[in-house]
Amino acid sequence: MAPIDFKPRIAARQADWIARRRDLHRHPELGFEEVRTAGIVAEELTRLSLEVRTGVGQTGVVGLLEGDAPGPTIMVRADMDALPIHEENEVDYASTAAGKMHACGHDGHTSIALAVAELLSEHRAQMAGRVKFVFQPAEEIGKGAAAMLDDGVLQNPAPDIALGLHVWNEVPVGSVALVDGPMMASANDFTIWVRGSGGHGALPHETRDPIVAASQIVTALQSIVSRNVKPTDVAVVSVTEFQAGDSFNVIPPEAKLRGTIRSFDTGVRDMVEDRLREISQGIAEALGCTVELDVQRLTLPVVNAPEVNARLREVFARVAPEIELIGDYRTMAAEDMSYFVDAVPGTFFFVGSASPERGLDYPHHHPRFDWDDERVIPLAVDLMASAVASYVLPVE
Ligand SMILES: [Zn+2]
Ligand SMILES: [Zn+2]
Repeated sequence: MAPIDFKPRIAARQADWIARRRDLHRHPELGFEEVRTAGIVAEELTRLSLEVRTGVGQTGVVGLLEGDAPGPTIMVRADMDALPIHEENEVDYASTAAGKMHACGHDGHTSIALAVAELLSEHRAQMAGRVKFVFQPAEEIGKGAAAMLDDGVLQNPAPDIALGLHVWNEVPVGSVALVDGPMMASANDFTIWVRGSGGHGALPHETRDPIVAASQIVTALQSIVSRNVKPTDVAVVSVTEFQAGDSFNVIPPEAKLRGTIRSFDTGVRDMVEDRLREISQGIAEALGCTVELDVQRLTLPVVNAPEVNARLREVFARVAPEIELIGDYRTMAAEDMSYFVDAVPGTFFFVGSASPERGLDYPHHHPRFDWDDERVIPLAVDLMASAVASYVLPVE
């Protein structure tokens, strides 16, 4: 038996899958509020006769497609959440929820994974192994994967391989980024409270000015990437929030800084955290202030398994020889898919989704973000279904 050609079924079904993506787009839900979305997912997986578990990581849903013969367990992960952005697109499927928008394409991921479940469920009788579909909440706040892990998503059964994809507007339709090793950065978020003692703006000698100290901390933090990170390594340290005071003649007692750290390597990340601590404490102390520092580790770097990619490269060349495969793409953006590919060998690939000629090339998280669902959904479904099939639908 040759590998299954999913194209005829995709051609017959894609209009419904595009319509489903647009329905989800109309009704975006923020992290851990994906009640309507999770309901649609659970209902569809039940209709396809998968074994369904809801409430995994609060609003997450897991569907298990059990083949008739034994074999490996392949996990397919899709995220479901939207962003607190007010949509500016004027399309008939624009968001109906003020201030909320699918501005990252997770509506597409949900629709694509449901389509893959549908296609593979039609081959259950030939299936050796099982497919575990993981519909994850709260990716954008970096908490959904961890919540699902806490609820045992990688147990009963434990996946052997974890696969995920992201529609990606930084790359045109027709290109797919499949990258060995680190592809997306780890994200830490930090808060530094600089405490001094406030007083009259005209009597600075009687204060310990936290604004002056915090300002010098911001400047000195710029030396971490330029002076401490090895030139051949990469990292980002960005201060993105600076709050202090609310009056022109009062020196406040406290200043607050927040920001993000990105890197591809946990050793670099640890060093950056250490320097962040040393620099803020040292400067604050020199200026008579104190600091309290809180660093939250949101995600790990996304590191893809080369042996999984080698297989996917063969599959993609067979089912979509026309696509351009990009092997050297990296982004400082972060993703909590990293937890799954850290625990299980796997890969996360980017399906190019921009169509500049149709104006569909705004960046992710932009109020005019949209992507070419009519071309991307059939392609992405074919790539993912064929990748999974290569593990669980034996040829010959
Ligand atoms: Zn996003
Ligand atoms: Zn995303």
